[in-house]
Amino acid sequence: MSYTPMMQQYLDVKGRCPDALLMFRLGDFYELFFEDAEIAARELEITLTGREAGGGRRVPMCGVPYHAVEGYIAALVERGYKVAICDQMEDPALAKGLVRREITRIVTPGTLLEDRGKEEKEQRLIGAVIPIPEGWSVAFADLSTGDRWAGAAHSIEQVMDDGLRYRPAEWLIPEEAAGEPWVTQLSKSTEAILTHRGHGKKTFTRMENGGWDDLPEAGGEEALAAIASYIEETQRRQLVHWKPVQPLHDATYMAVDAFARRNLELVQTVREGRRTGSLLWLLDETVTAMGGRLLRQWLERPLIDPGAIARRQDGIEELVGQWMRRNQLREDLRCVYDLERLLGRVSYGSAGPRDLRAVAQSLSQAPKLAAGLAGARSSILADIERRLDPCEEVRDLLDRALADDPPATAKEPGVIRDGFSPELDELRRASREGRSWIAALEQRERERTGIKSLKIGYNRVFGYYIEVTKANLALVPREYERRQTLAASERYVTPELKEMESRILDAQERAETIEYQLFVELRGTVVKALPRLQRLAGAMAELDVLCALAEVAAKRRYTRPVVDDSSVIEIRGGRHPVVEAVLPDGTFVPNDTFLDGDNRRVALITGPNMAGKSTYMRQVALIVLLAQVGSFVPADSARIGIVDRLFTRIGAADDLVAGQSTFMVEMVELATILRNATPRSLIILDEIGRGTSTYDGMSIARAAVEYIHDPTRVGARTLFATHYHELTGLADELPGVHNFSTEVREDSGGIVFLHRLVDRPADRSYGIHVARLAGLPEDLLERAEAILTSMEQVQQGLSQTAAACVGGEGGGADRDLPKVPQETGGRSTADEAGRGLDKAPLHPVLERLRKARVLDMTPIQALQELYELHLLV
Ligand code: ADP
Repeated sequence: MSYTPMMQQYLDVKGRCPDALLMFRLGDFYELFFEDAEIAARELEITLTGREAGGGRRVPMCGVPYHAVEGYIAALVERGYKVAICDQMEDPALAKGLVRREITRIVTPGTLLEDRGKEEKEQRLIGAVIPIPEGWSVAFADLSTGDRWAGAAHSIEQVMDDGLRYRPAEWLIPEEAAGEPWVTQLSKSTEAILTHRGHGKKTFTRMENGGWDDLPEAGGEEALAAIASYIEETQRRQLVHWKPVQPLHDATYMAVDAFARRNLELVQTVREGRRTGSLLWLLDETVTAMGGRLLRQWLERPLIDPGAIARRQDGIEELVGQWMRRNQLREDLRCVYDLERLLGRVSYGSAGPRDLRAVAQSLSQAPKLAAGLAGARSSILADIERRLDPCEEVRDLLDRALADDPPATAKEPGVIRDGFSPELDELRRASREGRSWIAALEQRERERTGIKSLKIGYNRVFGYYIEVTKANLALVPREYERRQTLAASERYVTPELKEMESRILDAQERAETIEYQLFVELRGTVVKALPRLQRLAGAMAELDVLCALAEVAAKRRYTRPVVDDSSVIEIRGGRHPVVEAVLPDGTFVPNDTFLDGDNRRVALITGPNMAGKSTYMRQVALIVLLAQVGSFVPADSARIGIVDRLFTRIGAADDLVAGQSTFMVEMVELATILRNATPRSLIILDEIGRGTSTYDGMSIARAAVEYIHDPTRVGARTLFATHYHELTGLADELPGVHNFSTEVREDSGGIVFLHRLVDRPADRSYGIHVARLAGLPEDLLERAEAILTSMEQVQQGLSQTAAACVGGEGGGADRDLPKVPQETGGRSTADEAGRGLDKAPLHPVLERLRKARVLDMTPIQALQELYELHLLV
C-alpha cells in the first residue's frame, strides 16, 4: 500500500530532519503530520484533524495559517522543540505535477530570531563543547547580535562554570558523547536542550574569510566551527554580522564562580529564578535593550584593573553630578531601538521596511547624543562622544528613500518615499491618474446614462466594473458588456475601462517590483555599513549603562569607592543593595567592614539565625563586586583593594551536581574554593560543616578556617559565619582571625535582632528563641529547653573530665580539643529559675570517668573499664 505522491514527498523531507517538527507548506497553511501533528496540536492548542494519505489510510494532521507561522514557531521553540520549515520552491499555479518543496530553515532554541518582546534584554545563546587534547573547546554565539565568545576549558567543572555563566538555550555536543554523565549534568544545570552532532574535519568550514587565525583565546576553534556549521545548516544562508570573537575566560576580569553568581543573585533569584529581586533588576535603569544586555555583561564580568575601573567611575561621577545632562541623554536614548538586533535581522535578510525605519530613527539620535556629551571631562564619555558616528550617508539615504510609515513587509506598496525614484514616481502618477480617470468616468457615465445609482467598483477576480441595479437595467447603453449577474444588480465593463484598468495594474505591478528592488538595495547599503553601525550601537549601549549606573547612584545615595591595589576592604556604613531597596525606607541597618591581608584576614561571625549574618556577608561581596564593575556602591565610603576571585558558599546547597548528598556537595565546593583561592581573593563561607555530626562538622569548620588563614596555603580575605561558638576561641590563637557577631537584645518578650555587627563573639545561639518567634508549639519549646539543658550539662561534665584526664600531660592539650563555652551568663532570669545548672550532680559514668587514671592503665585495664562503664549506662 503506497502513500500519495504528496505524502511520499513529505516523508522524504521528514527523513532529512528527524529530530525537528516539520512544518510543511500546503497552500495557505503549514501542516504537520503524524506524531509531529499530535505534539503541535497539544502544545499550540490547535485542532488535530486527519488527512487521507493513500490507500485509504488517514494520518493525524494539524496546521497553522502561513501568515501567522512565526508566532507558532516561536512558541514551539520556546518549549524546547526544533522546527523545520519546508516551503514551496515554485509557484503552485505554474508547477507541473507536484510542487517542489524544500527545507528553507530549521529554527532551534539556540537560533531563534523571532521577536520575543519582553525578553529583549536577555541574550539567547547557542553553545558548543567539543573534547580536544588540551581539555574542552567551548564557544557561545548570539545569532541575533553577532556576539561570540570562545576558548578552552581544562576541566569539566570549568565547562559547567562557563555554562552557568553564559546559560545557552541549546548546546551542541559531539555525537560520541551522548549519554555521558557530564553531558546530562550540563544540560540540567543550564536548562538547555542538547543537539548531538557528528563531528569531523568537515565542521571546519570557511564561514569567515581568514578562518580563526587571531582568536584572543586559544582552543576555541573546534567549538566555533561546530557552531558555524550548525548555523549554516539550520539557517541556510550566510550571515555577515559576526563581531570579532571575544575570549571566554579573560584574566582581565574578576573570576566569580557559579555558586557565587547564584548565591549573590546577580542576575536572577535563587528560589524562583526570576529577574525581579536580583542585583541586575535593581541596577537596571537602562532605557534600551542593548544597554540592558550590556549591563548584564558588565555585572557578570567585574574588572580587576584599577585604571579601567576608575575610567568607568569617572564617567558615572560626571553623570551623577549633572542630572540635566543625564536626563537629556536618557530621553534621547529612549528613542534608540535595538540596533544590534535590527542589524542582525538586516544581515540575516529578514529585516522589513519598518526595521530599516527603526535603524534610521536610531541613527538620528546619534548627533543628539553626541551634542549631549559635548564638553564631557571624563575620558570615557569623551570617547563615547567620538564613537557616536552618525553614519550620515546611511541615515540620509534611508531618510530619503523610506516612507515615513512604511508597511510591515517589503512586498506591500508604499515602502519607498515619493521623490526618491523618478521612475517609481512616474508609475505611481500613472496609476493615480488612472484611478482618478475612473472616478471621473463614474460621474460622466451617470450623466450620460441618467442612472443616478451607477457605480464603478473593483474586485480581484473581475477587475474594474460598472454596476447597475436591476431597476435601471433598461437604461444601460448598448456598448456595455455584461460580466456578472448578482441578485439585485448587473456588472458591466467597457473597452475603455478595461484599457485603463490594465494600464493601472501594469503600473502598480511595475511599481511594486521597483519598490522591492529599491528596498533590497537599501538593505544592501546597510549591510555594507554593518561594522560602523555595530560600533555605533556599542557606544550607545555603553552610554546607556553609564547613565543607568549614575541614575541608580543618585537615586539610592551610592558613593564612589576607592579601588586600588591594596589588600584592604574597608567599608563604612555599607548596605545590602537589594535588601535595602525592599525594606521600608530607612529601616536597613548599615554596617562597617574592615579586612586586610595581614592582621584582619578572617572575620569570624557568630550570632543566632535571622540576625542578619548572611545578609551582611552578601552585602560585602556585592559591594566589592559593584566597585569592580565600576559602579558606585551602597555605603558611606569604601576602599576596595582589588579582589581577583570571589567565592561564596552561602545558604542551602542546591542540586547543581545531581546525585550527591548535601554534605558532599558542600565539601566539593569547599575543596574547589581552597584549591583556587589566592591571597587576593575574597571568600565568603556560611555554616560550613552542617549535614554531618556536630564534632565532625566543627572539626572541618575549624580546620578550614586555619587553612584559609595560613598565608602559605590560602591567606585570602574571608568572612566566615558559623554556628559553632567553639570556633570563637580561634581569635586568641590566630593573629588574623577576629570575632564578630550580630547584636541581639533580650527583653521580657524574647529577643530583638538589631542587625548590627559588633566586634565580639555571640553569647549563645538563641535557636530556641528563634523557634519561638517562628511559632512552634510552646510544649515543644519547653521540651527543647530541657534537652538543651541536659546536653549542656553532659558537655560540661565531659569537659571537666577531659581536663582532669589530660591535664597531667602538661596543660597544652586544651588547644587541641574543640573548646566548649564555659560561659552560661547572659540568660534571662526566667531561664535560670529552678534549674541550678552548676549545682547538678554528675552522671555516675562521668563521675567514674573523671576519677579514672587513664594514663596509668594498660590496654586490657582500659578495655575492662570501658566495659564496666558501659554497664552503668
Ligand atoms: P542569618 O543569616 O543570620 O540567619 P539573614 O541575613 O538571613 O540572617 O537575615 C534575616 C532577615 O533580617 C533578612 O531577611 C532581613 O530582612 C533582615 N535583615 C538582615 N540584615 C539587616 C539589616 N542590616 N538591616 C535590617 N534588616 C536586616
